[in-house]
Amino acid sequence: MTQPTRITALPRHRDAGRRLNVVAGGAGFIGSHLCRALLDRGEGVLCIDSLQTARPSNLAALTGHPGFSFVRHDITAPLPASVLAEVPRIHRVWNLACAASPPLYQMDPEHTMLTNVVGTNHLLRLAERAGARFLLTSTSEVYGDPEVHPQPEEYRGHVSCTGPRACYDEGKRAAESLVFDYGRAGRAQVRVARIFNTYGPNMDPGDGRVVSNLICQALRGEALTIYGDGTQTRSFCYVADLVAGLLALMEAEFDGMQPVNLGNAAEITVRELLDQVVALSGTQARVVHRPIPVDDPRRRRPDLDRAAQLLGWAPRVPLSEGLAQTWAWFAAELQGELKARPAQAAE
Ligand code: UDP
Repeated sequence: MTQPTRITALPRHRDAGRRLNVVAGGAGFIGSHLCRALLDRGEGVLCIDSLQTARPSNLAALTGHPGFSFVRHDITAPLPASVLAEVPRIHRVWNLACAASPPLYQMDPEHTMLTNVVGTNHLLRLAERAGARFLLTSTSEVYGDPEVHPQPEEYRGHVSCTGPRACYDEGKRAAESLVFDYGRAGRAQVRVARIFNTYGPNMDPGDGRVVSNLICQALRGEALTIYGDGTQTRSFCYVADLVAGLLALMEAEFDGMQPVNLGNAAEITVRELLDQVVALSGTQARVVHRPIPVDDPRRRRPDLDRAAQLLGWAPRVPLSEGLAQTWAWFAAELQGELKARPAQAAE
């Protein structure tokens, strides 16, 4: 659904001579960290977000900055005049706008698909008009339930185009096609990041991702949920590392006509992740098993050779350290709620 458009903070970056970045999805988990990093570099940020899945507090933390402005807008609709008016100043266009958690992106699959295809096209046209470089945040989901392990960018994937994840997986694959078509035609300089599982502060406690679920459940004294038997694997990247990778990719001097995996290659099972969260909590926890979601990938781990070669980038934060930071952030975030109701005794 299209949201009303408004600018809540005046674009004061106009006078500051800052390079202007349009960040679609800038109020989301990764987007909010990217906005902060760009502002810290002295650049201007025009954030476009529908606030459909973003945390308002992510935005509140940015709105006081003189280089930051915000337009509430759903990118499936043509971009509003307030954004087009900034074309002469726009230097970079970042597309991070899409619900990324399976339960959330499956809630309105039509909208998820259109966000990726129609929304990406609107932003590509903006980049073309502005002569700006464009970066799409694609996903490891383009590899589906992979038959090749770890996944290099050359792997074409094993994706169901009819299942409940297709709106996201196929939406991102179509978005990549569009981006590379613009690049091939010389309509914009393009970059495509394939983001693997990422975690850290600013995740939404209600997002439904495994890291946020397990930490929030442990903090609340609830049973920890494992989908399936917990032997499926993922490789978790701390958000600060991921943002450093995005910045390096956007600025890397190459033709941009190949996607680049960004993530962390340290692969663990969901069960092992749960054990690490339990260790952080310092208490025993009850574990409940839920059915494995349809098309849930069995294994996932990025091949990061291309990122290392093209960007000179590699993740640095080990899972133990990142999880401890994330635990501390969620503990502070849920503090009010936890004070209001005594934690349930773990059964
Ligand atoms: N998962 C789980 N418990 C939860 C949430 C997720 O065991 O409370 C599993 C999920 O089935 C998947 C893995 O953890 O195998 C990662 O799920 P997430 O939704 O975080 O990311 P994605 O499936 O997109 O990789």
